[in-house]
Amino acid sequence: MSASLVPDSPVAEKIFPSPNHGERRNGRRPDILLLHYTGMPRESDALQRLCNPLAEVSAHYFVFEDGRVWQLVPEARRAWHAGAASWDGETDVNSASIGIEIANVGHEGGLPPYPEAQIESVIALCRDIVARWGIRPDRVLGHSDVAPLRKEDPGELFPWERLHRAGVGHWVAPAPVSDGRFFVRGDQGPPIEALQAMFVLYGYPATVTGVFDQETEAVVRAFQRHFRPGRIDGVADLSTITTLRDLLAARPPRDGAPSSA
Ligand SMILES: [Zn+2]
Repeated sequence: MSASLVPDSPVAEKIFPSPNHGERRNGRRPDILLLHYTGMPRESDALQRLCNPLAEVSAHYFVFEDGRVWQLVPEARRAWHAGAASWDGETDVNSASIGIEIANVGHEGGLPPYPEAQIESVIALCRDIVARWGIRPDRVLGHSDVAPLRKEDPGELFPWERLHRAGVGHWVAPAPVSDGRFFVRGDQGPPIEALQAMFVLYGYPATVTGVFDQETEAVVRAFQRHFRPGRIDGVADLSTITTLRDLLAARPPRDGAPSSA
C-alpha cells in the first residue's frame, strides 16, 4: 500500500506513518470519534510507541502538548487504539472509529491540565473529523466510555463541556452534586436494572443484571468522568442519574434507528 502524502485533515501538519493498522472490518465506515491521553511521562516516547510494530498500538492522530498535530494512520484504515471495548453494541470499536491520542502524562503522572494550545488543536481536529464523516455528537467518546473496566483516559480534566460549546460531542449541564448515597456496589433489584438499562440505552457497555456489581460501578465512574466530573466515586447518586436522564432526553435523533431497542 502506498502512503498518501497529504494528511486527511488540514489540521494535521504532516504525516508521520505508523505501520500499525489494518482493514476496517467489512469496510466499516467510522462513526465514532474516540479520544485518548497517552499516559506516558514523555510525549516523544508515546509517539514512538504508537509507531513501533512490536507495540501493536496506534491512533490516527497524535496531538502534541504544544498543539502540533501529526497523522499516523490514514483515516480509511483501522488503527489500534481501543483494545477490548464496546459502545452501543459495537464490539469492534477500532473498525468503527477514528482515534486521537493526546499527549498527557495522565492519572499516573498526576493528571496535569491540558494546555490551551493543545485543546485548541484537539477542538479544530475534532470539528474537522466529525464534519467530514458526519459523526453524531453522542458518538464522540473517551476511551474510558468504551472500556470502563480498563481505562480512565482522557480523564476528568478533559474539557468535554468546552468541546460541546465548540460543536463537538453531546453534553448537558450536570445536575448539582448533593450529599446522600444512592445506589452503590452490592445493591440489587428493579431500580438497579432500570439504572443499567439507562446506561445501555445511552451506549455504555453495561449489562442489565439487577445487581450493582463491579462492572456497573466502573460504568458509573466512566460516566462521571465524562459528564459529571465534580465527583468521581462510582456511586449512582441523584445527580449522576439525573444527568444521565437529561442526556438521554437531549440526545439528537438517531436516524434510521428504531425508537425502542
Ligand atoms: Zn486510551
